Amino acid sequence: MTVYADYIAPLFDKFTPLPDGELKAQIERLAQSIDFPLKKLFVVEGSKRSSHSNAYFYGFHKNKRIVLFDTLIEDFHKKEEEKSDESEVQSSGDSAKKEHKKVGCNNDEILAVLAHELGHWKLNHILKNLVIAQTNLFLCFMVFALLYQNQVLYDAFGFHKTRPVFIGIFIIFQYIFSPYNEILSFLMTCLGRRFEFAADAFAKHLNRTADLRSALIKLNKDNLGFPLYDWLYSSWYHSHPPLLERIRALGKID
Ligand SMILES: [Zn+2]
Repeated sequence: MTVYADYIAPLFDKFTPLPDGELKAQIERLAQSIDFPLKKLFVVEGSKRSSHSNAYFYGFHKNKRIVLFDTLIEDFHKKEEEKSDESEVQSSGDSAKKEHKKVGCNNDEILAVLAHELGHWKLNHILKNLVIAQTNLFLCFMVFALLYQNQVLYDAFGFHKTRPVFIGIFIIFQYIFSPYNEILSFLMTCLGRRFEFAADAFAKHLNRTADLRSALIKLNKDNLGFPLYDWLYSSWYHSHPPLLERIRALGKID
């Protein structure tokens, strides 16, 4: 995970430190208020490939970094465009005039989104997911060790005399585990939803409800999210509850 963030991700995207200013100061204050050990703050140029916006943090122990997508920041492109407008001076004429589609959030909304993300950290959601994933991996290999020499499995797939390990891996992980995986994935979806609501509640606890609400609406719009889902469909497929459910859970009162 450390190697990916520091050495691999920068090969594909441009990470620039968030310039000094009001936003940076506010984020640092927010991090400090909940004892988040923020080391560095980056903006990643996500707009090159997609208009989806997001924010995330990474890093082990006391060495955390926050990454904001440039599409999350409302003013980010305005500044960039002003810069490039100055340098290009009329050379391109009207035809090349960029489409000024307003995307992103204002500073308070960005802070609300970060309050949600930091809620995941404060409530140990990442650690809990890691423990579950490792336990699951251990269980899977334990079951594999118990079964992979069982001739019945190979017979069922036409391997009557031999027991190729590779075929064993395929049969066990693909077929034996398939009902277990369905159930596990549903339980993980349920847990994911709980975590999302808990992180929202954390942001609410930091008095950021109104900003989170408007940020969620803006992001859903910028990311072309569909607003309506059947609850049954949603509870099976969405580890992140859809917009309206989250807004409802945030409540009417800030
Ligand atoms: Zn979340």
